[in-house]
Amino acid sequence: MIALANPPVSTNRAFPADDNLTSVVSASRLNCFHSCRLKFYFRYVLEMVKPGSAALFVGKAVHAALQQWSTVRWRGLAHDAEALKAGFLMGWVTGQEDEPVSWEAGEEDDQQAKAWGLVEMYLRDTPVPAEEKPEAVEVRVEADLAKHGLPTLVGIIDLVRPGGRIVDFKTSAASPNAEQVIHRNETQLTAYGLLYREATGKHEAGFELHHLVKTKVPKLVVSEAPAITESQKTRFFRLIESYTDGVEREDYVPSPGLQCSACEFFAECRKGGAV
Ligand code: SF4
Repeated sequence: MIALANPPVSTNRAFPADDNLTSVVSASRLNCFHSCRLKFYFRYVLEMVKPGSAALFVGKAVHAALQQWSTVRWRGLAHDAEALKAGFLMGWVTGQEDEPVSWEAGEEDDQQAKAWGLVEMYLRDTPVPAEEKPEAVEVRVEADLAKHGLPTLVGIIDLVRPGGRIVDFKTSAASPNAEQVIHRNETQLTAYGLLYREATGKHEAGFELHHLVKTKVPKLVVSEAPAITESQKTRFFRLIESYTDGVEREDYVPSPGLQCSACEFFAECRKGGAV
């Protein structure tokens, strides 16, 4: 068991250096594999890297600003709007040094303004009080699941509010479906719950998904879920078993469907070939 209250990490890298696909799993890997095994093959086996999309970059820039905002509170300092904006603008530049984005003419300024608009909206409408000190911010956690015959689970949790409420920030183009949002994120939430339990020895109090929605007038939608149940935990373990079994058999069949419209490997997939 490890303490959660370590200094926030500034990296998004969740995986250890000696990572391989069947010894370490994450919610992202599980979701990708179970959504389309061929997509998983392109992304994680061949490690094909595609230029970042504008939407992805905006999401990361907003996420980084919220991380900075949470870190300031974690350190017990007062919120400084000017410093936050300066950090956001600097991150906008340095982020593209690592992951270049192909903007359309005039698009970058527009997207930057929209991204900062989302941050300002969040700071105005968030249910998190300005004086609330987080339990953890952007913390990397791992859980050894060997006693269940499973790989190590890793993940980075955006924010843990006092008492163990796990928060995940998301940016989206449209409001999440109220009836489905928790179900659609069940793999990620279950992973975070297990990681929190491993790190603290306590059960999480529940979950909050904070969707920053990029509508004309940006808005915040907060969706809540209770602590994970035993049946969710069992279902999650079966998902991991199915994942490791498929990867070991190199079962990378395609799953054509609605998800193809957002697949970065559409062109490679259409070329066909044996899988
Ligand atoms: S285009 Fe569709 S079927 Fe092909 S890899 Fe992507 S998600 Fe899978």
